[in-house]
Parts: sequence; structure tokens; C-alpha cells
Amino acid sequence: MLTRAGERLASWTTLRVGGPAADFVEATTRPALYDAVGALDDCGTPVLVLGGGSNLVVADDGFDGTVVRVATAGIAVGGDARGDAEVTVEAGESWEGLVELAVNESWVGLEALAGIPGTVGAAPIQNVGAYGQEVAETIAHVHAYDRLERRHRMFANADCGFGYRTSAFKQGPNRYVIGAVTFAFRRGSLGAPVKYAELAGRLGVEVGARVPMADVRAAVVELRRSKGMVLDADDRDTWSAGSFFMNPFVAPADLPAGAPAFGQPDGRVKTSAAWLVERAGFSCGYGSEQVRVSSKHTLALTNRGGASTTGVLALAREIRTGVRVRFGIELQLEPVLVSCSLD
Ligand SMILES: Cc1cc2nc3c(=O)[nH]c(=O)nc-3n(C[C@H](O)[C@H](O)[C@H](O)COP(=O)(O)OP(=O)(O)OC[C@H]3O[C@@H](n4cnc5c(N)ncnc54)[C@H](O)[C@@H]3O)c2cc1C
Repeated sequence: MLTRAGERLASWTTLRVGGPAADFVEATTRPALYDAVGALDDCGTPVLVLGGGSNLVVADDGFDGTVVRVATAGIAVGGDARGDAEVTVEAGESWEGLVELAVNESWVGLEALAGIPGTVGAAPIQNVGAYGQEVAETIAHVHAYDRLERRHRMFANADCGFGYRTSAFKQGPNRYVIGAVTFAFRRGSLGAPVKYAELAGRLGVEVGARVPMADVRAAVVELRRSKGMVLDADDRDTWSAGSFFMNPFVAPADLPAGAPAFGQPDGRVKTSAAWLVERAGFSCGYGSEQVRVSSKHTLALTNRGGASTTGVLALAREIRTGVRVRFGIELQLEPVLVSCSLD
């Protein structure tokens, strides 16, 4: 296993900030991944499991422990009695690579999740979602190492605690190392029904229509690109951790006048964090020379070059306070903060 001391984490995160790791190892097989974390736990060494670094904000001082980068690979395709596909993907595989494969192989259900950076192993953690689709809809099992019980476990979908940008893996932070994900895909050439109005509009169909998966993927990537939500080294609007804040859930009485509202089964409404951020006075481009709200999307905080984590967090704090003062709503962060905090 490769070991490197003092590796700068800015090189491993899409926001391109973060100081050095005391130690840095890469695991290329599932057993090596589980063994590495188990051995570090035995020694009491703090561990940061690293995927693609696209949902991470690491302190300028870095991480005083061992980063274990998940560099595992492998995709095993099986079938079920109805001829549908059961596909087990190792955690280190690229998410976008899997979406491309799924579209090419006519596996239905990931096409609207095109363009999301990162690894397959991280996808269940915050139940990645976009354009009306969530990964929870196609996951059959998650294979993990339980650091508390020190054993391998297999979670059926119903036991994963999936919700909006959350799961049992996120709720028990650092307890589980995800080694692989098994998906259950229906086969077909048409994507799942389009649920998101903006995507339906781009495709020229009604919400609920089904269109070829390749068209859905292309339309999603195009929409995402226009918002700086597809990684591009030449586009500083994409030097980010994606959306910095989650869409909040509020009681209907607390919904600001004119704010978007999506009714929930529990009676609350989900509203748009981007709308709140913008109406609180933080429009596209707000910020300093080094750290700014993306020029394409108010939810992405971007590194324009030379940014520090301290600078990113200062802007996040200012926005969170501004939204609280203006609307009385406390925004929650979407990325994971490592060795730093907003408070
Ligand atoms: C431009 C951009 C657009 C984005 N768009 C979206 C979007 O549309 N929807 C969405 O949901 N997200 C989006 N994201 C966020 C991010 O891409 C996802 O959360 C992604 O799943 C993170 O994967 P990663 O491999 O980069 O995880 P990392 O950033 O490396 O890690 C994130 C967290 O997961 C943990 N972790 C990673 N791998 C494992 C593992 N195998 N086992 C245990 N823990 C692990 C880490 O310790 C950390 O706590 C976007 C990010 C960017 C930069």
C-alpha cells in the first residue's frame, strides 16, 4: 500500500483548499481498505476516508491523522430471474463512469444523476440526488465495514435510512467504511419518468414522460454545465464542493412569501436554499477576489484561485447569518467539514 506523509489535501478536493495530512495511504482492494482502517483504529489513529474529495472542506491546518483514499475498482454484473441487472460496484469507481456505463448498458435509474463528481462509495452517504432522482431509488445493498462492531456488514436498502441528502451512514459519521454498492436496475432504453420541471422543459416533454436515457443524461449535463455544476479545471465556477447549503424544510407558516414550496408527506414544505441566499442579498459573484459565490449558481461557494478554508468558511458564515437574520431560517451545510467548523 502506498504511503505518503504530508500530502496536501488541497490537491485532493474539488474546492482545492485544505492543508496537509499527517499520513496518506491508498487502498486498491476492498479487503485492503477494510484492513487499513481496522489497523488504524487499533492504534487509535484518526482516519479520514477520502473518495473524490467533492464534498469535503478540510482545514487550512490539514488533518492530523491518516487519510485513507479509496482507490478500489471493479464492477460485477449479474442478473435476476426477470432479466433485470444486479450490479455490484467497488467504492472507488467513478460515479460519472458508472452513470455512463448504465446508460450504455440500458440500466434504468441513474441517468438524471449524470455529471455529479466523486466515487460510487460516497454516493449512498448523502444519498446523492439531482433533477428528481436519488441514488436510493436503485440501491439494493450497501457493503460496509462497521468500525464500531469491527465486522463486515451488508445493509439492505430499507436499512440504509435514506432521506433527503442523508442516510444511516451520514447519521453515524465515521462509523462505516463503504466498500461496495449493489444496484438493482430494470433494463430498458427509456429513462425513469422525468420528475423535474426544468429537465422536462429542456427535453421538451411533460413532467412524468419517459424519454431515451442518453437524451436525459445529455440534457442533465448541459443544464449542470450552465450552472457550473460539472467539474471543469478551466471554469473557476466549478472549483467548489457543489451546493454548500441544503434545501431547508420548514413549517408552512414559516415559508417566506414568494419562496418556492414543495409539500412533504409530514406536512412541512421544502424550500429553495438558492432562493433564500439570493433574496438575503448574496447574489452570483458576491464575495472577495479569492472566494466568491459562483457566477452561475448562488449555492456554490467557489475558489477563484488562492482561496483558504478560512476564507470559504467566513463567506459561508456570512451567508448563513444573512439568511437567518432576513428569514429566520437556519441553513444546514451540505459538505463535510474536516478539522474545522462554521461556529
Ligand atoms: C461541482 C459539484 C457538483 C455536485 N453536485 C451534486 C449533486 O447534484 N447532488 C449531490 O447529491 N451532490 C453533489 N455534489 C456533492 C458530491 O459530488 C457528492 O456528495 C459525492 O457523492 C461525493 O463523493 P466523493 O467521492 O467526492 O466523496 P468525498 O468528498 O471524498 O467524501 C465525502 C464524505 O464521504 C466520506 N466517504 C467517502 N467515501 C467513503 C467510503 N467509501 N466509505 C465511507 N465514507 C466515505 C468522506 O469521509 C466524507 O465524509 C457535487 C459536488 C461538486 C463539486
